[in-house]
Amino acid sequence: MTNVAIVTGGTRGIGLAITQALRAENYQVAAFYFGNEEAAQKCAADTGAKTYKVNVADFAACQKAVEQVETELGPVSVLVNNAGITKDGMLHKMSPESWSDVIETNMTSCFNMCRAVISGMRDRKLGRIVNISSINGQKGQLGQCNYSAAKAGMLGFTRALAQESAAKGITVNAICPGYIATDMTASMPQEVLESIIRQIPAARMGKPEEIADMVVFLASTRASFVTGATMTVNGGQYIAA
Ligand code: NDP
Repeated sequence: MTNVAIVTGGTRGIGLAITQALRAENYQVAAFYFGNEEAAQKCAADTGAKTYKVNVADFAACQKAVEQVETELGPVSVLVNNAGITKDGMLHKMSPESWSDVIETNMTSCFNMCRAVISGMRDRKLGRIVNISSINGQKGQLGQCNYSAAKAGMLGFTRALAQESAAKGITVNAICPGYIATDMTASMPQEVLESIIRQIPAARMGKPEEIADMVVFLASTRASFVTGATMTVNGGQYIAA
């Protein structure tokens, strides 16, 4: 297996933990980010990952960035689609922009990035794709019609691409994190977070490293026969069949 991994949104939060964990496994990591230069510089300095400023909602930008990564680091064997945003609001107040921004950044980005790497992976008969979905794509969440739809869409995308790719030595899996302590959840009101923690059997939020550990497993040769799967990592908050 070549050892080049792309992690979108790889310079902060869960993505940073994934970058760190893959670096610890000796992957060369291309960490994509959107606009937070300070976090990107710190990530590069601390982890040795190469950082790339790429809007994953932009198809052409993804194509160009993957070409650049393959020129600079080599063929991509692992893609982690982790970049994501929320723009919450009840549907009766949701703007078309809040809908499309969330759909494009979370879900269309999976198409954009997978489309850019898939031909090379098929040619080399080797690849690992991990899509970071969400508990709220599994169960739905009040105030998140856009986000729940995007994250549920990622699960269907994962299952379809897994079937297309299995015979080519490529696995495609999704992880559905529960509530994880990052900037994304830090922006939620404290009383909302406390009420969420009361619904988690493990009685705490998850850590970014707990998602990264699952990514490392799915990226490894030990997971060669795991494809099309949805791995829930949520402290028991939502136990899907
Ligand atoms: P953060 O808000 O902490 O980080 C988001 C990352 O995505 C940042 O690196 C950001 O870049 C990047 N990003 C955002 N928009 C774009 C874009 N258009 N193009 C490229 N990169 C972009 O999020 P988390 O770490 O909390 O979440 C990571 C993933 O996990 C997301 O997909 C999220 O939906 C999912 N998730 C998170 C949960 C949680 O509880 N935290 C629960 C379930 C799922 P920059 O730093 O430049 O802004």
